[in-house]
Amino acid sequence: MRWTRLFFATYKDVPNDAVVVSHQLLHRAGFIIKSGVGLFSYSPLMMRVISKTETIIREELNKADCLEIAMPVVTPAGLWQESGRWDDMGPLMLRFSDRADRQLCISPTNEEAVVDYFRTLAKSYKQLPCNLYQINTKFRDEIRPRFGLMRAREFSMKDGYSFHANKDCLDNTYDKMFEAYTAIFKRIGLNFISVEADGGDMAGAGAKTHEFQVIADSGEDDVVVCQEEGYASNREAAVTKRPALLFNRGTDLLKKVETPDKKSIEAVSDFLKIEAHHCLKAYVYVLTQNLTKNNQTSFVMALCLGDDTFNELKLKKHITGSLTPATDDELKNAGFIQGFMGPVHCPKNTLIIVDNEVDEQALYCCGANEIDAHFMFMSLSRDCAGAYIKADIRLSKEGDVSMHGGQIDFKRGIEVGHIFQLGDKYTKSLRASVLDENGKEIYPLMGCYGIGVGRTIASAIEQKHDDKGIVWPKAIAPFEVLIIIMSMKDDLLVTAAEELYLSLKEQSIDVAMDDREVSAGVKFKDADLIGIPFQIIIGKTYKEEAKFECVVRETGDKYKLNKDELLGRLRV
Ligand code: ATP
Ligand code: MG
Repeated sequence: MRWTRLFFATYKDVPNDAVVVSHQLLHRAGFIIKSGVGLFSYSPLMMRVISKTETIIREELNKADCLEIAMPVVTPAGLWQESGRWDDMGPLMLRFSDRADRQLCISPTNEEAVVDYFRTLAKSYKQLPCNLYQINTKFRDEIRPRFGLMRAREFSMKDGYSFHANKDCLDNTYDKMFEAYTAIFKRIGLNFISVEADGGDMAGAGAKTHEFQVIADSGEDDVVVCQEEGYASNREAAVTKRPALLFNRGTDLLKKVETPDKKSIEAVSDFLKIEAHHCLKAYVYVLTQNLTKNNQTSFVMALCLGDDTFNELKLKKHITGSLTPATDDELKNAGFIQGFMGPVHCPKNTLIIVDNEVDEQALYCCGANEIDAHFMFMSLSRDCAGAYIKADIRLSKEGDVSMHGGQIDFKRGIEVGHIFQLGDKYTKSLRASVLDENGKEIYPLMGCYGIGVGRTIASAIEQKHDDKGIVWPKAIAPFEVLIIIMSMKDDLLVTAAEELYLSLKEQSIDVAMDDREVSAGVKFKDADLIGIPFQIIIGKTYKEEAKFECVVRETGDKYKLNKDELLGRLRV
């Protein structure tokens, strides 16, 4: 491609809202143009990066026996009402009506649509397993669209869905998809890790789920890694422990003390001169269960060490029903005293869940469920016997060790891919059944597999760039080679460049040529900004030595090569 035919421009300045480097460089190097909040147009250069990324995705998925289909971007409300997600999706889903007043949305994801496609065709277990995917536009009206393509509102997603007659088959395909994802991100050239994730309310018990995280400081996710044990998890799902703590296992009896207006762990531990991990933090949720008859409200009190933080996602796994933090009024009406809550004498209908790090025999300071009062020397096993259950409900934190005592590191990650087992939630709710070998109706189990195309591309830039611009991994670079003609006024250089350009094209080498009538300085700056991996400069060295000066963008290494040497190098 000749530069003068590439309809695009580079920029010196960055937009105010571009705070991460991928957003800044994609804008400055002319890859994206903003058209609204979280909405972008892609330039011809960007389309080449997208197309190469999509090709890698397609090739690896096709190798794993996935089948490409295309479903509409706009889906009817009826499908979402069948699954119950028309309400659950909330404002994330962009809804509208057509001229006949039919309600529709721009799909934020496509489970409902794919199950509808599947149920139209599938009759028998003999058609299973089947593994369908598409690469198309999704729209999510994100609360905080930001970071350019990393969290856009309209974005391209590869979403895939598999259907299975049994769990073994689902597990098999899941493992195959794990391998395919690993191959995809490797081929793209990313430094990534796969981590255990939280499946939220989609995945049932025992369902596997992993995220593929690109390690970068700008990542929005925290990941926890234990190198020596090969353990990696999203922080939300991580199971780690504190290094051994010294507990107070004395024999003192429960004692109420006055703690005027000391409502936080910090205030109480300062006032009573007790370390925070010898205090218990309490948090109360309202529990709503469909099973709860006669409108009786029940509560869940979560307890953890004073210097730990609750992990609501973990807590919810131990509950059937939904949990919402109790409001001031709900606490008051039920008889909880805010700032002074604890497990002893707490209101009836309260299920107490105590974090595993809390030692049942140790003595703690906790709220006395009375205004301006705390208990000292509270022992769970002695003072709350039978009134609580224990579980892992804390958030992993710096300083933790793995469950086997290994060293843990915290890193920032960008979630580029996510695979999970969905179970039969959607096949059941959308009544997509098939007949098994005994003629019995079964609801197939589903797996679901996503990759954000734009986010993956942006993460490649987050990972590889320098102060001059983008350093594309070769596999997804808009071009592999850029010929830079130092002066368009010098016929010798122009002729040599034209000749080289045509012969590289003839050899199917992915080449672009900067044939603009601008200074060499501008060309060098743009070349570095745009980040094409290999630059061939046709100028002084060519005139003096009949050789091409070649620069490797990533390392800055320079070589003087004649044409044969150059072709030999590029064909590798
Ligand atoms: P996040 O937690 O970052 O909001 P998610 O877990 O909701 O993402 P999934 O539903 O798992 O996202 O979607 C599959 C993939 O789509 C993600 O792994 C990510 O690469 C991409 N993706 C999701 N939301 C966006 C977005 N707003 N902009 C760009 N890519 C996105
Ligand atoms: Mg996800």
